[in-house]
Amino acid sequence: MSITEMAKTAKPNIAFIGLGNMGAPMAQNLLKAGYPLSVYDLSTEATKRLKEAGARVAPSPQQAIADAQIVMSMLPAGEHVHSVYLGNGETEGILAQLPKGALVIDSSTIAAQGARLVADAATKQGVDFLDAPVSGGTSGAIAGTLTFIVGGTDEAFGRAKPILEAMGKNIFHAGDHGAGQVAKICNNMLLGILMAGTAEAINLGVKNGLDPKVLSDIMLQSSGRNWTLEVYNPYPHVMESVPSSKNYEGGFMSKLMQKDLDLAMHTAQQVDARVPLGNKATELYTKHAIANADKDFSSIMTIYNS
Ligand code: NAD
Repeated sequence: MSITEMAKTAKPNIAFIGLGNMGAPMAQNLLKAGYPLSVYDLSTEATKRLKEAGARVAPSPQQAIADAQIVMSMLPAGEHVHSVYLGNGETEGILAQLPKGALVIDSSTIAAQGARLVADAATKQGVDFLDAPVSGGTSGAIAGTLTFIVGGTDEAFGRAKPILEAMGKNIFHAGDHGAGQVAKICNNMLLGILMAGTAEAINLGVKNGLDPKVLSDIMLQSSGRNWTLEVYNPYPHVMESVPSSKNYEGGFMSKLMQKDLDLAMHTAQQVDARVPLGNKATELYTKHAIANADKDFSSIMTIYNS
């Protein structure tokens, strides 16, 4: 193979920022697929695993992106995304440092408006930006089977696709900047409603003397079937590998579900869409997250059975 051909097939350097429950396994899958990776997280504990897996750990976001053509981020919320890319008054954002032609893929779940703000700033300096939130949870992140829901230009989507395929199974182009975030919060509003509804139904059966596993199996083969019954049962020990059987540790934190429901309610207000069930789920999760912020969102079960 000639040097030019080798250069064409060489994998681009990727900088990955935010190595929490989701970001760490996603970054590990990029390493497994052969992408040279530099990583940054505020927590040194979080970077340890990636160092062991072969990533270069950078001491700052600026140093993480120094040789990168692609930047990926998986951060908790909009404020973190804005501070990393645009700066926060004290520190300069990394966007200003990126060369023309770089591609930024943000997979955090944030407001569509917030994603468009970063996209506009990126476009002004010739950097491509994609909002690419994910669905599939920590198990999907580990298995490399996430669903990516992408907003941005066709060209940027085409560039990102092979990279996203190293971490996911279904890669959707939802539309222009922000469209990925809108589709994602529609999905998560439905998930919040389904999780609370499933917990409520199981509790009703158990209070009437039914075995939670037997009831779950029945509903799984009946018209109440949904994703939570299939792979994420909220009742302890119906499924052994899910957070409900591990004291609701790991997974998708209740405070993140509350954040997504708040985003959905905000988005609904902007276009005057009616969301009575979304409102009720937001109310339940807001109350629940006061004492259970870091517990998996399936711990909503405990508002019924404790
Ligand atoms: P997490 O809290 O486990 O991880 C976030 C990481 O970002 C942490 O390691 C934190 O130290 C780091 N961080 C925060 N601010 C930073 C900064 N300024 N610079 C560098 N690192 C910083 O969260 P998570 O569960 O991995 O979720 C990340 C995003 O993915 C959220 O937007 C969430 O809504 C979304 N999401 C999560 C799940 C899930 O099941 N956990 C599923 C789908 C989508």
